[in-house]
Amino acid sequence: MQSRPPSSAIVIGSGIVGAATAYFLARRGIAVRLIDASAPAAEATGAADGAVSVASKRPGPMMAAALKGVRLYGELADEGLFAGAFKRRSTFIVAASDEECAVLDAHSAALAGAGVRVETLSETDLRRDFPVLSPQAKMAVEVHGEGHAIGYQIVHRLLTASGITVDRDTRVEGLRLEDGGRRIAGIGTSRGSLTADVVVIAAGNGSAGLLGLSGVLTPRKGQLLVTERAPALNAAMRGAIMSGRYLLSKGSQKAGHAPPPRGLGLVIDPLVTGQFLIGGTREDFGKRETNDIDAVSRILKDAVALVPGLAGVRLLRSFAGVRTAVIDGLPLVGRIPGLENGYVATGFEGDGICLGPVTGKSIVQLICGEEPDLDFSSFEPARFAGHGVAA
Ligand SMILES: Cc1cc2nc3c(=O)[nH]c(=O)nc-3n(C[C@H](O)[C@H](O)[C@H](O)COP(=O)(O)OP(=O)(O)OC[C@H]3O[C@@H](n4cnc5c(N)ncnc54)[C@H](O)[C@@H]3O)c2cc1C
Repeated sequence: MQSRPPSSAIVIGSGIVGAATAYFLARRGIAVRLIDASAPAAEATGAADGAVSVASKRPGPMMAAALKGVRLYGELADEGLFAGAFKRRSTFIVAASDEECAVLDAHSAALAGAGVRVETLSETDLRRDFPVLSPQAKMAVEVHGEGHAIGYQIVHRLLTASGITVDRDTRVEGLRLEDGGRRIAGIGTSRGSLTADVVVIAAGNGSAGLLGLSGVLTPRKGQLLVTERAPALNAAMRGAIMSGRYLLSKGSQKAGHAPPPRGLGLVIDPLVTGQFLIGGTREDFGKRETNDIDAVSRILKDAVALVPGLAGVRLLRSFAGVRTAVIDGLPLVGRIPGLENGYVATGFEGDGICLGPVTGKSIVQLICGEEPDLDFSSFEPARFAGHGVAA
């Protein structure tokens, strides 16, 4: 294992995870090459919603990690790095059926048990304090202390602050090993070879090919909508609204619970611009950058059912992105088994905006031989060693 801080590092992928890793490496004076097959935030990071949120996380390691992720956003906003890019707000998880009320009650207890400040709002509270919600809403849980950030803006902040220029349009084609396969000597790219003391793979869906993990990492598409500005309605929304169904769609209640081929969970986020970001789907099929009328109309129908005032707001655009999911529902973060100087950080599915900065910080702590802020024990790549991740 790398015992002393390295002098140089290559980070593969300039999404939020790679950009954060590069930022924290550079902050320690380590020379960084940040390589991307395309451009910064070109993939999931540039096509995400941006909930920096514990609200929907499954109890256990993901909830614990998200708590640290949200906390770091707050610290970096206070420091100035994320000032103006991280909007603090609550999340309101709203239940519209008896089944959703039951799931929400259990989830609220789990959040409170993890130390999250939650507040239950009865139907009467909602009618009085949250009139923009439709009468369908039977109860809600307010999750305090959360926020929202646009992924590509965070990447821009990280790159600008660290002065890192991304090697764009440079596809990493493979790792070159030495010392009987125990060390990465360098990487082969579409523009030639590069060497460094350590290599971090943060290539989202591109990580599967580099690690031989195509059966373990899977693409999961999502479709989102953005409305025009509607300042009065926006101001009346005290935070993001998440349908209780989102918990079911995301499989937050049971570890290993696979989502349906096309899950539809509703999150309505009032943006600082006065617009609304509304999402979205979780799909294991479909063309990556396309939207389809079925998904768009279902999202709109659900949104208007929960917030009827949205019926008078025009849709500006729809877009789609592809998350990187791991078959067991947990990310893949840590040292690559069998390699002294190789690390991976990917597989955050729908949580990478929240977890990107804290993961970048923690993987750099690991590289430098320190105790990472995040507990990686459940995220260890070694759990898939038999699938090809081992060198
Ligand atoms: C619709 C949607 C909604 C979402 N909503 C949220 C949300 O509300 N909250 C939240 O926390 N998260 C959300 N996410 C998830 C979040 O966007 C991702 O988890 C996160 O952006 C992943 O970041 P990343 O850096 O790991 O990967 P990516 O952003 O996918 O970046 C990987 C980068 O690696 C590059 N690359 C790939 N292969 C190679 C190669 N061989 N050589 C060089 N470069 C390579 C790519 O070009 C890309 O730039 C959402 C995602 C989607 C799609």
